[in-house]
Parts: sequence; structure tokens; C-alpha cells
Amino acid sequence: MKLDTLIRGGLVVDGTGLAPRRTDVGLKGAHIHCVGDAVQLDAAHVIDATGLVVAPGFIDIHTHSDMSLLQDGRGQSKVHQGVTTEVTGNCGFSPFPINPQHMQLHQDLLAGIGDDAIAITWRDVEGYRQTAERQGIALNIAPLVGHGALRIAAMGVSSTPANAAQMQCMQDLLAQMLDQGAFGMTTGLTYVPSRYAPTDELVSLCEILARRGRIYATHARDKDLTGADHRYGPLNEALHLGRSTGVRVQFSHAAINTPSEWGSARLWTERFEAAVQDGVDAAFDVYPYDASSSALTQYLPAWVQEGGVAAMRERLQGEAVMARAEADLALGWSANRIPWLWDRVVLARTDGLLGAQEGKTIEAAAAEAGKSPARYTLELCREGGNRVMVVLFYRTEEDMRCFLQCRHALVGSDGSAIPFDQGSRQPHPRNFGASVRVLARLVRDLGDLDLATAIAKMTGGVAARLGLRDRGTLAVGQAADIVLFDPQEVRDRGTYLAPCQKPAGVAHVFVNGVAVIRDGAQTDARPGRVLRAA
Ligand SMILES: [Zn+2]
Repeated sequence: MKLDTLIRGGLVVDGTGLAPRRTDVGLKGAHIHCVGDAVQLDAAHVIDATGLVVAPGFIDIHTHSDMSLLQDGRGQSKVHQGVTTEVTGNCGFSPFPINPQHMQLHQDLLAGIGDDAIAITWRDVEGYRQTAERQGIALNIAPLVGHGALRIAAMGVSSTPANAAQMQCMQDLLAQMLDQGAFGMTTGLTYVPSRYAPTDELVSLCEILARRGRIYATHARDKDLTGADHRYGPLNEALHLGRSTGVRVQFSHAAINTPSEWGSARLWTERFEAAVQDGVDAAFDVYPYDASSSALTQYLPAWVQEGGVAAMRERLQGEAVMARAEADLALGWSANRIPWLWDRVVLARTDGLLGAQEGKTIEAAAAEAGKSPARYTLELCREGGNRVMVVLFYRTEEDMRCFLQCRHALVGSDGSAIPFDQGSRQPHPRNFGASVRVLARLVRDLGDLDLATAIAKMTGGVAARLGLRDRGTLAVGQAADIVLFDPQEVRDRGTYLAPCQKPAGVAHVFVNGVAVIRDGAQTDARPGRVLRAA
């Protein structure tokens, strides 16, 4: 027996949370052939892993790489961190199901995840899978179905509740996508059109997920529709869905964004814990930064966006409407009227619209243009639709650390697999460093997490939530998705001003047994697959 690759003498952290141990790992084909002393085995390639950690490749549970990996299959920003699987379709955004009659609305939706438009030639998960694998992707995709896409396919962009036929259509499409291997469904309940769904609509979709044991991942609403225990706020609806349908809930990108509530993460995690103790099958994810990033339109009043991007553009042509929107926006963002701190909102992508420079705050850009920040924001959205992206400094590291230390927390970047060359755009550094930042900042610098726990939150713990049985741990027979890194050197290097940086300390990365990073450099291999939920 000859192994393809023998990884010798590394510190193996197997993804289950168990303590590290020094041993060998042998790869044969796309799988792990042996874990343990393998000195006697012959191998085509031998990697001396002395001084390196050998771990399962990271599974990023919250990404938006749906389109970016079709644009550039290298997935540079992620493979260089050791990410081997991107969980896509989050926050309600997914490139399926597609209703060709609503193609422009689908494209407008997908613009909200920050990529340039590409022609959509498929309709469903299977078509997307074929396209991605034919083009070649360096890492795997575990697809989720976005409720935004589901709703557009069934009823376009409408703020009304679904009628019986539209509801049936959504249920049928969801079932079809799950049949084709989607791992679950997501909502983006502050985004159009996902936000228009009443809780009942989500209940009927979650029942389908629950029956099949698939996950429900939710970017929560900014208001509580359930009228249940007010202490739980935006958590209420997610927990209600978990409780009433039995669906497995993944609460997306937990954060405290309201300045008056900064420092309250402990209270939040205690409530989450109480709900789990009470029988709700729930976990949450968090990214290790003190700033968020999103399409700027997310922060506009709902009525401004009614009907989708084209309708919003049309609406904002009128001066009376513009003035009303400006006054409304100045009251704050989200239903909670979080006060605008315009010097904390930085332009990340403008495509040069209105002469707006990426990297500037809206406060500065608006002042230069001689406009109020609210007016400037509205004009940017009118011109650029969902393409205009911002980074918001509305969080504290203290809260983030508290979230990540909770036993129910997993790591999800909320970023995408994108090239290092971003031109003048300044995407959030989470795209380039979330996974390694956990190892550098939370494990090594702050000592908040031990290495085995941190790695489990990015591997085995994620696989368990997703129902991904053949990945996430280093064990015989598992898919050979593996990362080797130097625990002393590993770190993210991207900053908010210079985000597009390759991390340090990641030596080798294997996807399905094939090296995609060798000695710190990316190979030409594209061994990634669009995975199927079983
Ligand atoms: Zn989100």
C-alpha cells in the first residue's frame, strides 16, 4: 500500500475538541487513510509537519461566496486561510431557485452580496453545481437555499404575505432544492424581500426543513414580531421557529450593534443558553471583528425599497419623496432607530458613483459633496442600488469575545472567497482573515479559547450542525480536507484600510486530498465540489 501523501510528526488537532496529539496522517485518494503512527508506510509525498498544527480544513458556516467562486474559482481569500468548505446561501441570498421571469429581481438580490453580475444560466442547485464544478473551484461549497431567492421565484418582490398558491410554490421549490442536496434554508429578515415574510410563512417552510433534519440559518429581524418574552428581542422569532417546528436553528452573525447596549453580550448568551436548556436545538455564529459590512440599502427605510431596486430608483427621483426619506433616515437605522454615527460608516464599494471614494466615511464624503449624510446615502443607493457596500464600526471587541467564548458559538466569516486584487474596493478584512484571526487573536494573543476548542468551532462543530458527516474531523475515512499551520506564526494581516492581505503562517491546505496550498503558495488545482446534504 502506498499513500499519496504522508503528513508526518505534526500536532494533530482533530476537530472534535479533544486535546492535540503528535502523530501522522496518511492520505489516499480523496480520503484520510490513517491517523496514527504511519512511519512504516510508503508515500508518494511526505510532508514533515514538525512544529505545525494539522487540523481539518476550516468549514466557514456563514459565507456569501455563491457568485464569487463562479467569477474566480481560486477562492484566494479563503484557501489561504485554510478554509476548505464555504457554506453559501446565507442571509436569504442564493442563486437558486431561479424563476427566469424574475431574472432582474434575482440579479438585484445577488448584487447585495457584493459581486459583479454574471449571467445565470441555471435554475436550481443541480444546475449551479454543474456550472461550478465544470468551471472548477479550489474549495468545496455547502449550499443553503436563500429565502429571498425562494420568495422572488414564487412572487417577485412584494411586501404582501404570500397567498396560498405562492406559499405552495415556495414549499415545493424548497423541497426540490433540498432533494438536490441543499443543506437547509436561510433568511435575511432585514433585507428585501425576505423581510416581508410574516412569521407564519417561515413556520411553514421550517416545518419542511425540520422533517428532513436540515438547518434553518437566520439573519434576524430588527424588530420582534412574536410578542413573546421581550427580553429576547430579535432572538424571539428564531427560537420560536425552533421551538414550534423542531427545526435546527443557526442564528447568524450574533452581534450587539446598538451603542446603548454595547457590553450586553453576556446577557444575550445567557438567554441563548436558557433556550437551549429549554429544548431548542440552536447554535449561533460570530466573526472575530468589531465592524460589520453590508449593502448600504439594508439601512434604508422599508418603504423606500418597496418593490425592489428599480422601484426604489424611480421613487427617489421625486424631490418630495427624497425629502421625506431623508427626514426618515436621519432618525436612525433599522426599526430600532439605531442612531447614525456617520463617521463610523465607511464606503467599501461605490464604483465611483457621485465621485464617492472607497475608504472615506459617509460623513466626510457627504461634506465634500455639500450634502447631508442622509441625502448623500439616499443618492448613492438611488444610483448604485444594492451594489454600494459599506463597513460599519458599530460593535465592540469585548462583546465579540464574549459571544465567541459561548459553547454554542461557531465561527462564520460573513465574507466571501474573493481574489486579493480588489482594485479600489475595500471589502471587510473578514473576507481575508476571519479564520486565522480566531487562531491569532482569540487563541494566541488573548487566550480566550484553547486551540482545540477554537478549531472545533471552525470544523467538527460546524459539520455537526450542518449534518455534514464526511468532513470536519481528522479520522479514517473522512474526506481529506486538511490545513497545516504554524501556531506561533499564523495570523491575519488585513486591516480595514488595507484588507486584501494574505494571512501568515498557513503552510499547506488539502481539499479532497489534493494540495491547493503548498508551502504557502496556491497551486492550480480546483478539487472543490458542491457538496450534497445526505
Ligand atoms: Zn447577514
